[in-house]
Order: sequence, then C-alpha cells, then structure tokens
Amino acid sequence: MRPLIEISQVHKVYSTGASEVRALDGVSLEISQGEFVALIGPSGSGKSTLLHILGFLDRPDAGAYRFAGHAVEGLGENQFAALRSRTIGFVFQSFHLLARYTTYDNVGLPMVYTGADDRDERISQALKAVGMEDRAGHRPNQLSGGQQQRAAVARAVVNDPLLLLADEPTGNLDSRSREEILSLLKSLSARGITVVIVTHDPELASQAHRVVRLKDGRIVSDERIAAPAPPAQAAQLELPKTRLGFSLSEIEEQVHVALWAVWSHKMRSALTILGMLIGVGSVIALMSISQGFLNDLIGKAETEGANMVQVRRNWRKFPNVPELHIEDAEAIRNECPSVVKANPVVYRDVEVKRGKKSVRALLITDIGELPSSLKRGKGRKPELWLKGRWITPEDNKGRTRVIVLTETAARKVFGDEDAVGQEVRINKVAFNVVGVRQEGKESQIFGGRPRVFIPLNTALRRLFGQRTVDEIEVEALSVDAVQDARREIILLLRGKYGYREGVEEDYDVATLTGRIQAFRNDLGKFSLFVYSIAAISLLVGGIGIMNIMLVSVTERTREIGLRKALGARKSDIMVQFLVEAVVLCLLGALAGIGLGFGLALGLSLIIHVTPSLTPSSMALALVFSAGIGLTFGFWPAWWAANLSPIDALRTE
Ligand code: ADP
Repeated sequence: MRPLIEISQVHKVYSTGASEVRALDGVSLEISQGEFVALIGPSGSGKSTLLHILGFLDRPDAGAYRFAGHAVEGLGENQFAALRSRTIGFVFQSFHLLARYTTYDNVGLPMVYTGADDRDERISQALKAVGMEDRAGHRPNQLSGGQQQRAAVARAVVNDPLLLLADEPTGNLDSRSREEILSLLKSLSARGITVVIVTHDPELASQAHRVVRLKDGRIVSDERIAAPAPPAQAAQLELPKTRLGFSLSEIEEQVHVALWAVWSHKMRSALTILGMLIGVGSVIALMSISQGFLNDLIGKAETEGANMVQVRRNWRKFPNVPELHIEDAEAIRNECPSVVKANPVVYRDVEVKRGKKSVRALLITDIGELPSSLKRGKGRKPELWLKGRWITPEDNKGRTRVIVLTETAARKVFGDEDAVGQEVRINKVAFNVVGVRQEGKESQIFGGRPRVFIPLNTALRRLFGQRTVDEIEVEALSVDAVQDARREIILLLRGKYGYREGVEEDYDVATLTGRIQAFRNDLGKFSLFVYSIAAISLLVGGIGIMNIMLVSVTERTREIGLRKALGARKSDIMVQFLVEAVVLCLLGALAGIGLGFGLALGLSLIIHVTPSLTPSSMALALVFSAGIGLTFGFWPAWWAANLSPIDALRTE
C-alpha cells in the first residue's frame, strides 16, 4: 500500500535581510495511513515549517511531495485550498477560535467552504467526539483552555479529514487539559485518522507510534514505537475537486460577517458612510424635487395648459423683426382656425411705490379673459390662492387703475398690513390694490422676483403710451391642435410683416412641451452642479471606505489565515471583503435615500412641490453605490486574499 505522505529532499530557505535560514535542509519522510507521528526537536529546527508544508499551507523551495500517490508540485492555489478543506484538519497551539462565534459555529466554520448539507449532524458528532455537546452555545471566552482546544479539535475533524496536523496542541494547557487532548488525539488515531503533531512534550511524544526528531532542518532520528492502527480508508484516493462559485451557506456567512463587521464598529461605520450619505442624499433630493416638479408641470399640461402657446419676437437673433401689436392678437384669433383665444401681454420692469417704501417688480398685463390668467393659480379655486379679486374684462375695457400684487411684492411694501384696498404708485400713476395672490411654482423654486398684474389697456394707454406688446398668449382648440396653431401663427405673422416662409424662425412660438424641455435644460445646468458635489463626496466616501476596509483587513488578518487554513480559497476571502465594502456602501446609500427624500419632503413644505422618488432612481442609487463598494473595496480585498496563510496566522 502506498504511504499517505511521501516527501523527498524537501528544502525551505528563509532569507531575512543578509542572513539565510535553512528551515528545512533536505528532508525525506514517508508516513502511512493511520500512523500517529510526533515531530520533536529543539526550537527552530524546522518542525512547524515541515508541518505547514505537509498541510499545504506552504510550498517547499525544492524537493518532491506526493500526497496519497499524487504529485502536488504542479497544483494550483485552489487545489491546495480544496486539499486543506477536504483532507486536512489543523489544530494550533493558540486554538484560533473566533471570539464572536459560539463553539457550535466555530466547529462549523470549515463547512462554510465545503457547503455540506448535513452540517448540523456533523457538528453534533464532532462535538460529541470531543465531549463538548454541553458547551455548544458557549463562546471561547466562556471556555477553559482545554475546552477551547477540544473545540478546535472538533473543528479539525468536522470535515472527516484523512490527516490531522497539530502544532504544539498542548503547549498552552495545564496538565489535566493536556491529558484530555492527548487521549482525544489517541482516540482519533485509533479511528484510523493519520495524526502528525509537533510537540515539546515528551509525554505526548511517547504516546505516538513514531517519533521523528529534527535538528537544523534535517531528520536526525526516526523511531517506531508501536504499530499503527489499520487505516480508515483505502490509500488510493482521488484528489478533491476544486470548488467553483460560492455555496448558499457561504454567501450567508459572508453577508453575516459583513453585517457583524459593520455592526460591531457602529461609530466607525457611521463615519465611513458619511460621504456616501451626502453624495447619494443630495442626488436623491435633487431627483425627487425635480421629478416632482416635472410631474406637476406635465400633470398641468395634461389637464389645462397643454393647449397654450406663447408667441414672441425672436429679437435676440433677429433684432429687426417687427414688433407685435394688439391687432396681431386679434388677427391670430380671427384668422388661425386652430386658435380659440389670443391674449396680448406686456412685461415691464417697474418700481412700485407706496409712500417711502418701494419694490422693483415685474409688471405683467392681463385682459381678464383667458383661462390662463386664472390658472396661474395652479388650477385651484381662486379663493385658495387669491385674496381680493382678479382683473376683469371690464377693468381692461375701462382702463381702470387696478392692480394685483404677488405676496412677495405685497410684503415688501405693506409688511404685515392688508394690502387689498390700499394704493400704490407706478411711474406716478396711482393704482388701487384689488387682490394679492400666492407665488407660482416656478418662482417658489427658482426664487422668483416680486410681480404685479394690471389690465393691458391701462398699461398701454395710461402707463407706457405704446401700442406694441411683448407676447401673445394663445389658446389652441385642443392639445392635438397645438402644432397646427403654431404653424398657422408663424405663417400669419410672416405674411403680415412680409417675411418669407422658409427663413429662420423670426417669431418664437413656444409650446408647453417646449417649456418643459426648457425647464429640463435649466435643471440640467443646476443638476450638473449638484452632481459634481455628489461625485466629490462619493469619491471621498469611496476613499473612506477603502481606508476602513484596509483597517478591517489588518484587524482580521489572523482570521484570514485561519479561514485559509480551514480551506478558504483566495476568491472566498476576496469576496468576503468585497461583500463587506458593498454592504457598507449600500447602508450609506439607503441612509442617503432616506436623507435625500426627507430633505425633499422638508423643501416641499416651502415650495409646494410633491417630491417624487421613482423606484428606478432608488435602484440607480443602490447599484451605483454597490459599484463604488466594489471599486474601492477591490484593493483591500485583493490584499487580504493574497496574504500568506502562515504569515497571517502568526500576526499578533
Ligand atoms: P520549529 O517549529 O522547529 O521551532 P520553525 O519551522 O518554526 O521551527 O522554524 C525553522 C527556522 O525557520 C527557524 O530558524 C525560524 O526562525 C525560521 N523561520 C520560520 N518561519 C520564518 C519566516 N516566515 N521568515 C523567516 N524565517 C523563518
């Protein structure tokens, strides 16, 4: 029968600075199945190094290693991990139990990387084998040293290994516990498991079947004391298959560990996600407000304003385009078949005075006819948005000197006094205040200026002495007729003023769709600003996450070493830390969504826009933050994954 382990001429050299240490200097050894071998020798003679090489935790610099008849030199990292996971159990001098886990979960840890279905049964069996059933729910700090080492032995055998490797398993124990561990190892050996231990303990060594003594990296004696037990399994075995992907139980463990890591450092985690919180929060706030506003605008378009068209001179591009007149409005109304009404409007910057107080305001004329003027109050009942009354067609016809102020304008000149019934002056002409109205939505958002409204004819004849108007507000037959109306108006005006069809647009005829587009454009510029702030804080947040992940890796270096010794692949460790980074980012994003929407809700009290948070923008925020977690978590995770298991286990 082939031996389980065959090594020949194995060398391992450590070079630290100038000096070279030959930890193993041509070691050849065969160990059969079922043997119980004690490696002894002075400190520094290479025992642990040999044990690590036997257990696939380390590779020799030179020499051959056959495990169960298979040469292992050409095997890759994942194959090594599979061998550690399926065929080897490790027991360490310092137990290496995870302090946060119960005995039960510590014993079950290797099965995270094998994904066994009969997990509970195996753990119970292993606990029973070491006499620790009654301590399953205890944490390591509630156990004695001997009990901790028994738990560690249970962990080593839970996956049914062929080979148990123990490095000074009794080194940290009192004499009674030493006895316990000794008899435990003997019973495992009697069950047919091959056991190799490194020890200084002569009593422990004397219980072995065979004692191999090392000195200066060489075997100096090899004594057989007793015959080994008959092997548990046939010697010829297949190498275990490497795992692909991640089992459900492992993903569960990874998410669990990530949540634990975040939760156990609450303050640190909270500070870390601050950047994500601000970045995501500001974007979500902007998105929900602007989406709410657009919904509003579009909703309004659907109900009332979509058949409105604004006609203006495109004077910026064509300074010589003839002015618009009241008569043009009449012509549009009478001659364009798709038009119902046409309302000429004059805009002017004026100074509204009352005694010594004054305010600069935008004057807008009204003929008291078109629904649009009433619907400036968001389509709500006039009494809700207007105190006093609105301008009537009679006011316009009679050129009365009446005026309606917006709340802002009224507050500027009347303070808390009731403005209705009082008098103001514009260009020395006295006006009687008949109404005060709320601000429109646009001015609430973009901080609009004070506005005042007077009848059109009053403005033209009494105030400005002119016949030209700045804009004609047109109501089309229906929403579908808007484009026709637009074309008819352009043709009419060009015909009237001698402009040929086909030249560039000399009159600007804006439809509501156009205005929504314009709003989107305005928003675009503003968004760019918010998005840049968000990008900066996300970048800073990402760097913060990278930083904390590096700390996290450093803190848990020993755990990484342990997990690798128990069979974790590089990718298992890598994904472990990536999941942690992503969980952190997602928490930040969730908090950011909450904050952003809260902010939008708060703002909505001031500007009366119902914020709207779409599932797609939430999903976008989450996906984006997960991406940040992956990006900035990559390096720390990669670093963790590539730690050498031995070095990692040895860190303090
Ligand atoms: P033992 O277990 O017999 O005490 P080790 O196998 O731990 O001995 O070490 C053998 C020699 O190799 C020692 O001289 C030790 O200092 C050296 N050595 C072990 N590991 C390292 C390492 N990672 N870097 C440098 N030297 C090492």
